[in-house]
Amino acid sequence: MKFMCVARITLLLVLLVACTPTLTVPTLEGLTATPVRSRPEELTPSPVPSKVEGETEAPGPPTEPAGVTLAAESPFPTPSPVARPTLPPPASATPPSTGCPDTADLKNERAEMVRQTIRYRGVSDERVLAVMESVLRHCFVREEDLRYAYADHPLPIGYGQTISQPYIVALMTELLALEPDDKVLEVGTGSGYQAAVLSGLVAEVYTVEIVEPLATSAAERLAALGYENVTVKHADGYYGWEEHAPFDAVIVTAAPDHVPPPLVSQLRDGGRLIIPVGPQGGFQVLWQITRRGNQVEAKEITGVRFVPLTGGH
Ligand code: SAH
Repeated sequence: MKFMCVARITLLLVLLVACTPTLTVPTLEGLTATPVRSRPEELTPSPVPSKVEGETEAPGPPTEPAGVTLAAESPFPTPSPVARPTLPPPASATPPSTGCPDTADLKNERAEMVRQTIRYRGVSDERVLAVMESVLRHCFVREEDLRYAYADHPLPIGYGQTISQPYIVALMTELLALEPDDKVLEVGTGSGYQAAVLSGLVAEVYTVEIVEPLATSAAERLAALGYENVTVKHADGYYGWEEHAPFDAVIVTAAPDHVPPPLVSQLRDGGRLIIPVGPQGGFQVLWQITRRGNQVEAKEITGVRFVPLTGGH
């Protein structure tokens, strides 16, 4: 019996060692990349996979000149202007009323979502918690999914893509360690929900989406909701957004099988990159990568499952 236990523990250890993920740290021009993997005890516990699924959604034109703008090189037409407040909503602000009404019930559901899943599972940054409570997630999901808007699940947004589950959005946002003056790049705009969350926490948000209709509809949605400090671009986010670099933080919401070198080189010294890395549909690891001069530190956070980062790279 004793032997069996020892044998089992040994087997478990062997399996753990065998399953420990590796990170391909990019080779950068002029940047010596040296990964510093955190030890397991330094990691955030409780891996929570983000499910992957999706269906279609009708696109709309972007808004220009709006807080949410499509980049100059974007092929999108200029749409008609929409009403919007003059300031981006701070984390604790009442959300703008344009485009998508809020109700007392939905407000309660949001508060419960923050209390029961996000705070309960260890996200403790009060600014992040406040913004998660203020952003109207129900405005970023399809009408038929409205009743699940505040459940802790990913939901389809069209084109085989998903809006991430709220806990993962909050966790990744917290890991970005944002300051109010920061400039952030998001790769994988999707519905625009994560960009809206970021919008309430930082000065400028740049977000890149490879599926053109999603980029268009997200830009339109964000503009209609009054998020003035977000700029959306239809492009392959693997290459970042050089024009606006360096970024204080970069968040990637689709999983590549290696860390894209441009995303690291577009970080300022001390900047943070939060990125899931791993094979499509397989075991992916969420990494927190910090640029330190010409080196990077990479800290393994938890196991996740994201849609793949696509594109021709
Ligand atoms: N952050 C989104 C959810 C992202 S789902 C939200 O809050 O709703 C991942 C998104 O990444 C999808 O919309 C997908 O089309 C996009 N994507 C995948 N590969 C990409 C790439 N190379 N560049 C930019 N976006 C990409």
